[in-house]
Amino acid sequence: MINIRSVNKVYGEGPNAVTALRDINLEVPQGGIYGVVGRSGAGKSTLIRCVNMLETPTSGQVLVDGQDLTQLDEQGLRLARHQIGMIFQHFNLLSSRTVYDNIALPLELMKADSAQIKAAVEPLLELTGLTDKVDHYPSQLSGGQKQRVAIARALATKPKVLLSDEATSALDPHTTRSILELLKNINRELGITILLITHEMEVVKRICDRVALISDGSLIEEDEVGHFFTHP
Ligand code: ADP
Ligand code: ADP
Repeated sequence: MINIRSVNKVYGEGPNAVTALRDINLEVPQGGIYGVVGRSGAGKSTLIRCVNMLETPTSGQVLVDGQDLTQLDEQGLRLARHQIGMIFQHFNLLSSRTVYDNIALPLELMKADSAQIKAAVEPLLELTGLTDKVDHYPSQLSGGQKQRVAIARALATKPKVLLSDEATSALDPHTTRSILELLKNINRELGITILLITHEMEVVKRICDRVALISDGSLIEEDEVGHFFTHP
């Protein structure tokens, strides 16, 4: 579902250049939950941001559902991004909008009408357990509730892929587990492929079926989770 081919990423130029990714090759199978782990500064954020072109790779290809995103123009990219939802460590909700209107935002940007928006948002409120919070503002929600809103928003365009950038890193262990359970459900029930980055091995052990380790921009190892953690 996601094919990363020979991707390099260099920030800046000349003496200040930072190589964040070095010849990364990665294949995330359809329907999987795939984890990328590594220390701070290893290149995890850069890698996941290349999968929806929030960062443009310096070279290489990024294919999502067979389409090479590096070859698309702005318009093509806008359409392709409907297939790719993303969630973040700090939720990135709009504080001036209610839960409902946060989830509706991507649909408004697609020029959906209010009936289409309602038809899409209501099942997502149900799925994420937010039905009774629909008129709340982000400041009235707990961290876990905010992340649920962000997850619902990421699913509003019915993506095939969900990208998660340290989605549980700002949450306590109990809330972390409930968010991971939700992600597992979404993967199982909606068949959405999940690519996540984390610095917490516990997250990988709990929900991933495959994992890659990156260090200093290079892919060091890639395996099924069961094998990965039994290595000497
Ligand atoms: P991680 O997510 O694993 O912490 P990052 O992808 O954020 O790693 O960073 C990888 C490397 O690229 C680091 O050396 C970081 O300082 C650098 N980097 C990340 N973003 C930028 C940027 N916008 N400009 C310059 N350097 C960056
Ligand atoms: P997170 O782990 O939540 O992504 P970071 O502190 O790694 O937070 O990065 C926050 C933002 O700053 C990201 O957009 C990243 O690309 C950017 N960034 C990270 N390192 C650098 C850097 N050395 N120079 C410029 N921007 C950077």
